[in-house]
Order: sequence, then structure tokens, then C-alpha cells
Amino acid sequence: MHIQPAERISKLPRYLFAEIDKKVRAAAEKGVDVIRLGIGDPDEPAPEYIVRRMMAEVQQPRNHTYPPDEGLPEFKQAVADYYYRRHKVTLDPKKEVCVLLGSKEGIAHISACFVNPGDINLVPDPGYPVYSIGTMFAGGEAYRMPLYKANNFLPDLQAIAPAVARRAKLMFLNYPNNPTGAVAPPQFFADAVEFADKWQIIVCHDLAYSEIAYDDYLPPSFLETPGAKEVGIEFGSLSKTFNMTGWRIGYAVGCSAVVEVLSRYKTNIDSGTFKAIQYTGAEAFNNPAAAEFRARMCSLYRERRDAAVLALREMGFEVQTPLATFYVWASIPAGFAGSAEFVSFILEEAGVVLTPGRGFGEYGEGYFRLALTVEATRIREAMERIKKALSRR
Ligand SMILES: *Cc1c(COP(=O)(O)O)cnc(C)c1O
Repeated sequence: MHIQPAERISKLPRYLFAEIDKKVRAAAEKGVDVIRLGIGDPDEPAPEYIVRRMMAEVQQPRNHTYPPDEGLPEFKQAVADYYYRRHKVTLDPKKEVCVLLGSKEGIAHISACFVNPGDINLVPDPGYPVYSIGTMFAGGEAYRMPLYKANNFLPDLQAIAPAVARRAKLMFLNYPNNPTGAVAPPQFFADAVEFADKWQIIVCHDLAYSEIAYDDYLPPSFLETPGAKEVGIEFGSLSKTFNMTGWRIGYAVGCSAVVEVLSRYKTNIDSGTFKAIQYTGAEAFNNPAAAEFRARMCSLYRERRDAAVLALREMGFEVQTPLATFYVWASIPAGFAGSAEFVSFILEEAGVVLTPGRGFGEYGEGYFRLALTVEATRIREAMERIKKALSRR
């Protein structure tokens, strides 16, 4: 029998890391000690207080049944309390919080909730690929908002033609930003609210990196912006904050009408997050140990960031010091045809994995991303190897 995937499957872009993965495996098989700065996945485990609570919750038979459709009240309350403590934003846990199987799941499904065939979603480029893939799966069209360095990697909302804005349903934003590490000033969020209200576009702000920040910078919530809760929602996650990427728990908060549709959609396709994980997720936020853990992680990433940025600058790379996220975004050096060629060269000649900017969209071309999710000593070694490889060239 001939197995024919649906059009939406054949339209999927070639998986960003597939080609690199193949080369990484080949290098590792040859005995190369590969340093992986490609994927942003915390190398440290979730903190002790979270693991201990999870062990207790797993032992509770009451947690083994289906969780409530609307999410566990304890977890939703913990998210609301955290938003108030951290952002001075008031959320009704019943109507303005939706529990997700990781924020990627909600980001992927929000388009199915609001986009009809022919509608447009505004997506940042370079950007997290799920924004445009969710759009495409819903039959929508992704209009790419270029993030230029000259504009501090913020989209120029005035550059969006009225004909496009009129057809747009959702606008995805993500600050602190993956992959560029850029942050957004409050004025940008205020402009986004005004733009969204004018054109009746739902803002979907992705705040995955709210707690990974340096040098006294405290990333704001989009919902702190006056009027934001009327036009949008915010996606959050325990993945990067608490080193829980594998646990799969996140949330969407904000505009109750949007949260209601997303919750209703999800009720029909999944049955929620394991109750033990939701109870533990509540503890992750509520336990006072969270602040100490956050400080420890940020100082760890800061040391790595400083090591990487210093070494890259010494080699002549054009790179900014990120105020948040665990990524460094830098221009590829002269003499390479593109980011894919540069990344392949570094993998083959230095045994170091980087991510080509092109993988995040056409406006990512000319850049590469380095993830700070390995120890500082390994980052320093990677920098030494890159330096040698470039000098031999
Ligand atoms: C890591 C990441 C997420 C999603 O994380 P989940 O594990 O699905 O919660 C979402 N957006 C961006 C930009 C990310 O980097």
C-alpha cells in the first residue's frame, strides 16, 4: 500500500536539525569529542525541592486518574499568585489561566482555535518555528515580520501593510527573544497593544525566558501593558525556569475569551497534564526555594555568557551581550557563503555544534546561535577550537 501523508505534512519544512544531527553522529562515530551548543535544553536537573515533591505525588493513587479538564485549581492558582508577585498582574485562575502540555503545545494549537483558511498570522523572523508551523497546519498563511538588528530585533509594526493587517488573526511575539536574545522595551508592548486593537488581532506573547536574565534586568510580562489583557494572551512554561523541559507543563494566561477557546479546543484532543506534575508545578512556583534556584541558574548562565561573548569578540565576531535567554546570537564571519556553510565548517573542523540562523527563517541568514547549556569550561574549550579552526582556514 502506498502511504500518502496529508499536504500539511509534505509542506513541513525540512527539520532544522536533521542535517546537522547526521553530521554530529558521523563525527561522534569517528571519535570526535563533540561540544553541543546547538539545542537550548538546560543541562542542570530540576531542583531538589521539585524532585522530592514529585516523588511524593507519584505515590498518591488519587493522582493516577485523569486530571480535571479545566486544569488543576491548585496549579492555576499558583500561576496567578506568581503573576501577581512577579508582575503585579491580577489573573482570575478560573477564567484567565489554561494549563498546557508545555507551552509548545499551546503555541502549536492556538492557530487551530482562531485561524480560518486564508487568514494571516504575523510571525517574527527569525523565530521559534512552531509559530509558522501551527499557522500552516490551520490552513493559514504566515506573514513574516523581519527582526533587524538595526531595530534591536523588534518588528516594525508600521511596516505591515493595511491589506495584511486587515487579514491577520494572530500576532506572535517573543521577548526575551529566541534566537536573538533581544528584549523588548515597555513602549514596544504598548505599540503592539495599540496595533492589535486597531486591526483586531490577538497578540500571542511567548514568555518562555521570563526568569533567565542578567545584570539586574527583569523581563516584563506583556500583560503588564495597559490594555494587553483585552487583546492577548501570554504563553509561559516551567521548562526553562525550573529545568523541567522533559516534564511537559506550561500555561497560557490573559484574555478570558481567548483562554476559553483554547481550553475548549484542548478538552477535545488531550486529557490534560498528569496531576502529580500539576501539583509539583504549583510547588515549583510557591516554594521560597524558587528564588534561590533562579539566582543560581542565572549566575551559572551569566558566567557562560561572559566567557562566550568575550572569546567571540576577541576573535572579531560581531556580537551583543544578551540581557536575557541562554542564547548568544552573532554574525557569521566574512568569507562564508551563509550560516549553513559556517556551521558545517565549525562542526567539521572544530567539533562544535552551532545552529545556523537560516534555520529560524530567512532573516536569520548571516547569523548563528550558540546555546549556553553546557559548562563554562566546555564553552571555553569550544571557543579555543573555533579560534584554531578559523586561523587554519
Ligand atoms: C523552549 C521554548 C518554548 C517551549 O517550551 P515548552 O517546553 O514547550 O514549554 C517556547 N517558546 C520558545 C521561544 C522556546 O525557546
